[in-house]
This record gives sequence, structure tokens and C-alpha cells, in this order.
Amino acid sequence: MNGMCPYCEEFREIEIIKKMEKNIIRGIEIESEAEFSLCTVCGKDFATMDQMGFTLTNGYNEYRKLENIIFPEEIISIRQKYGTNQKTFAKILELEELAFKCYEQGTLTSKAVSNLIQSMDKPENFFVQFEKNKHKLTLHQIRKIESEIYK
Ligand SMILES: [Zn+2]
Repeated sequence: MNGMCPYCEEFREIEIIKKMEKNIIRGIEIESEAEFSLCTVCGKDFATMDQMGFTLTNGYNEYRKLENIIFPEEIISIRQKYGTNQKTFAKILELEELAFKCYEQGTLTSKAVSNLIQSMDKPENFFVQFEKNKHKLTLHQIRKIESEIYK
């Protein structure tokens, strides 16, 4: 594979390498797999934007496992269980819509938000939250959710 080497400042033959790396995430040292590009000419390694993203995602996932923080896929599956879109689900949970969207896209949630969303997996918990915030929803949204709950 060819890529731009920032050291040579030329297009070079690049090898992809993976190694374990330690990073501090929320005050905890997390060891996870990191990806780098190795220039076969100068022998130096560097990370592209995509590789930094990959490394960050891996670090977050290790942190999630260690601290029992919800994974983005779980958030999506819990939300979809009640037939709601992001906006409606955020209203029911009393979370900022934009923040909620980011959580589904991979932003690390706080422990409190993680616990709240995890608890929604149980329909009885979701029902309590739904009843509490129903007045913020349209009749169409309410009917749609009720049809999922009573299915
Ligand atoms: Zn180079």
C-alpha cells in the first residue's frame, strides 16, 4: 500500500502495523490495540486520522468493558426495541438530543447515563420513564410506542 510519509514528505510503500498502547481514559490507564502506518523507507511509524479513530474506538471499548459502560450498539438496540427514533427516545430519557445522537455514534457516556439507558432494557423501567415524559410527545409518537409496548 502507498501512502504519504510525513517524515519523508513523499509517497512511500506503507505497512500497517498494530501494537498495544496504553492511554489514560477518564483517569484510568487502558491498554488497547492501536494501528499505525510504517514507512518502509525511513522506518518511522505514524498514525493517520482513520487510524487515530480506530485506536480511540478500541480504547473506549476496553474502558466500557472494564467499567461496565454501555456500547453504542446496545443503545441502538434498546431504543429500537420501543420503536422510537433518537429524538423521541432522548425526550423520554430526559437527555439532550444531540448528546444522545453522539452516544449512538460512539461517544463515551457517563456512568449515570449508561446506567439509565441500560435500565431501559426492562420494559417496566421504560414504561415509568415513558409515562413521566409522555406530555412532551406527539399523539402519533405515543401511539407508536404504546403499540410496541403492548405487542
Ligand atoms: Zn518515510
